Amino acid sequence: MGAAHRAHKEFGVNPSMRVDVFGVLRDIGAFVFFRPLRSIYGAYLPTGDSMPGLLINSNLPLSVQRFTAAHELGHLYLGHKIVSLEREVGFVPEERSGVDNDEVVAEAFGAFFLMPKALVATSMRELRIEKETMAPADVYLLALRMGASYAATINQLRTLRFLRPTQASELRKHAPKEIKEELNNEKAAGRHDVWLLNENWDGQEIYPAIRDTIRIRLEETPTSGYTWLVQKRPRGFHVLEDGYKGEETAIGGVRIREFVASLEDDAQESELVLRKARPWERDAVGAEFSVQIHPQELRKTGPLVLPKIA
Ligand SMILES: [Zn+2]
Repeated sequence: MGAAHRAHKEFGVNPSMRVDVFGVLRDIGAFVFFRPLRSIYGAYLPTGDSMPGLLINSNLPLSVQRFTAAHELGHLYLGHKIVSLEREVGFVPEERSGVDNDEVVAEAFGAFFLMPKALVATSMRELRIEKETMAPADVYLLALRMGASYAATINQLRTLRFLRPTQASELRKHAPKEIKEELNNEKAAGRHDVWLLNENWDGQEIYPAIRDTIRIRLEETPTSGYTWLVQKRPRGFHVLEDGYKGEETAIGGVRIREFVASLEDDAQESELVLRKARPWERDAVGAEFSVQIHPQELRKTGPLVLPKIA
């Protein structure tokens, strides 16, 4: 979409990397307010001559807040004149009839601003997700990697023709809540996300919210004596479980080591490093796995930027 592409250029956004939508809103001095709301995702409140106000429901998961923010940025960037109360974001493109034109345009802007084709393609390649075999968990993790909601990600994959209509409608039958519980060994995660990281995530930057769950699953060959050890643990990265997934020894002599961690309030930007080593050989180091963690604070209430006092 042309306008989102123009906005990327104007705001210096790299379209193959996760888009910092709140950073852009902060840079342009938009009046963004977070409030716990009941029935709407957010709102766009044009004010005539001065900067419009944007409202975001802080009860929503971070990915949905980010997509709502991108949708509201669409209204703002395109200079829409009419108040918009978002009863729905991430609506299904095939069901757009009856939705007014400003909404369709803002929604498309939001999708292409947060999920430009280059970012979708890069993320799919890095996570080794294939178009033909995309499962609900693949789409959920792809959405997390990009920082967009599950529903909006399915829509964008469809818009980009990365999914067939039948695949999209099948994926829409699965709710993020159900997918998260499945990834989290049937434990409820509430509005928090579950980051399931495997070898494909090595070297990635991730943006989990405080209190998200991070599960790292890496292969081990017991007969080799090599085992994964946490080499560098970021502050606030609290390991809850350290064990093996499923059967002790799986087919082919490979088993899956699993670390389960939660991000606590004092989490800071830093690197998590795991090393595969033989515990009795201090210096012999095998493979390494690392991710850069950028903890995201979920705002309950208040402005993204304080309004300037004249
Ligand atoms: Zn809208």
